[in-house]
Amino acid sequence: MALLEVKALKKHFTVSISPMRHATLKAVDGIDFSLDKNRVFALVGESGCGKSTVARLLLRLIAPTAGEIRFRGENILGLKGGALKAFRKSVQIIFQDPFASLNPRMTVFDALSEPLKIHGLAGRAELKDRVSELLQSVGLGDVLDSYPHEFSGGQRQRICIARALAVSPEVIVADEPLSALDVSIQAQILNLLLELKERTGISFVFISHDLRVVEYLSDEVAVMYLGKIVEVSKTEDLFGSPLHPYTEILLSSAPSIKADGRKKPELKGEVPSPINIPSGCPFHPRCHRRFEPCERVVPELRQYKGRQVACHLRNPAI
Ligand code: SF4
Repeated sequence: MALLEVKALKKHFTVSISPMRHATLKAVDGIDFSLDKNRVFALVGESGCGKSTVARLLLRLIAPTAGEIRFRGENILGLKGGALKAFRKSVQIIFQDPFASLNPRMTVFDALSEPLKIHGLAGRAELKDRVSELLQSVGLGDVLDSYPHEFSGGQRQRICIARALAVSPEVIVADEPLSALDVSIQAQILNLLLELKERTGISFVFISHDLRVVEYLSDEVAVMYLGKIVEVSKTEDLFGSPLHPYTEILLSSAPSIKADGRKKPELKGEVPSPINIPSGCPFHPRCHRRFEPCERVVPELRQYKGRQVACHLRNPAI
């Protein structure tokens, strides 16, 4: 059984487009994926594709419009009271902005002891030792009495990681955890996440627009476009031979991904609005490989040689 399983998950928002008119914004529009123990499952795509909405749904910070999220086989959407508290202990999140994630009026000791107290994981006498251990595990020394503004961005993100680790979670949802950091610091945090995975067996849902990072860290990758998953492949397969034209373009435009001598397709135009999704294949207005059925027939995400892809090139519609 998968540790975390998402089935037909949707999140639609009603938005006002004029004083008298409303429209439906399909932020997440029917996605499926699963995460096994001690694995890193990456969600990639351009900004606005729905990745961060998925993160908030997985944590039950917002309610879905439809679909299921199962943790250890149980649908978390029906959890209440103690069962919901236990789920919140098992699945933690690291946000993009470590400064906004920390209360500026709380010392490091207060920030890290809070989850331990909420979940009854350490008595008053053990708190200081436990918090010191957590700080050591993320490479920070004796900074118990310091405040967030006294740290660099990378150090603040380490504190956020320590806070997520405090309750010994089984899954961490990391939502663009490196993108607010300097490039030199990104590598340190990336290595820390990898080391934690190896040492603790934690699984990650890793959300990023940075393919270099995804290639380094993840075991499996799902590519999102306009609220849908368009390809799911093992990391080495995706980077070695992308199936979906959108994946192909993302890879060719990532600065450090190795060129293979093929002519590089370019990503044309902007992402269409999720309140006005193109007919047929949502990617067809920007696709360098589109052909006759693409504008009128929606490609479903289907199996293709042990991988999954939503493209008529791989799974002809007619
Ligand atoms: Fe391109 Fe057509 Fe495939 Fe969509 S279905 S990605 S338009 S080739």
